[in-house]
Amino acid sequence: MSTQYHAIAIDGPSGAGKSTLSQQLARALGYLHVDTGAIYRTVGLAACRRGISMEDRAGIEAILPQLDIRMRFGLDGGQQMLLNGEDVSGEIRRHEISAWASAVSAIPAVREFLLEMQRRMAREQNVIMDGRDIGTVVLPDADVKIFLTAQPEDRAHRRYLELLERGQQAQEAQVLRDVIARDEQDTHRATAPLRQAPDALVADTTGMSREESFQLLLKLIRDRLGEGGGAGDEK
Ligand code: C5P
Repeated sequence: MSTQYHAIAIDGPSGAGKSTLSQQLARALGYLHVDTGAIYRTVGLAACRRGISMEDRAGIEAILPQLDIRMRFGLDGGQQMLLNGEDVSGEIRRHEISAWASAVSAIPAVREFLLEMQRRMAREQNVIMDGRDIGTVVLPDADVKIFLTAQPEDRAHRRYLELLERGQQAQEAQVLRDVIARDEQDTHRATAPLRQAPDALVADTTGMSREESFQLLLKLIRDRLGEGGGAGDEK
């Protein structure tokens, strides 16, 4: 029996629905969903709490050896983030932590620090992993790569509703400005810019409901993996 598992990489800009759809797909396929944005958010939260400036790359790098970042999965497959033993799953979702995550993720030492952790998850089980560089850098041999995108206005609207759902205050126009700024930062940074893997399937969900987007992705994955979706079986 081989110990190699199936891996599905979902990359794309912020607010494209990667996490929500990946979670739903993971349940349908019997895979573990790994949300890598949450890992960067955890590093961002740690830097923010220490009062380091977002521009202070050396200061951010210096705290890495003090960080014990772990993931825990609930019975429902929900991912929880632990920072030095503290469950920070709720706190990393605060709106201002998005900018922190984006800032720390542009530092090569941070990406290097988190790379092995992400690869290990994919070596140990069937995963659907979402992020920005999963198909290009983290899991270049993933069985299926999807580049999930939608127009910025659609993505901002979804993120706005998500924030309201979490009981957070938000202005839709401000969320749209933040989405556009984050797109700019994520696609133009020197380190691991967001880009589509040449062998990725593109899914543009502009104007689609969540269910329509889910059905589209499920079909793309099943077509690529072959009949039965490969759920649960090893290569
Ligand atoms: O996906 P999410 O919005 O939670 O990610 C937060 C930030 O972390 C993104 O803006 C992006 O800059 C960064 N990120 C990354 N690489 C990943 C996942 C997230 O650079 N694989």
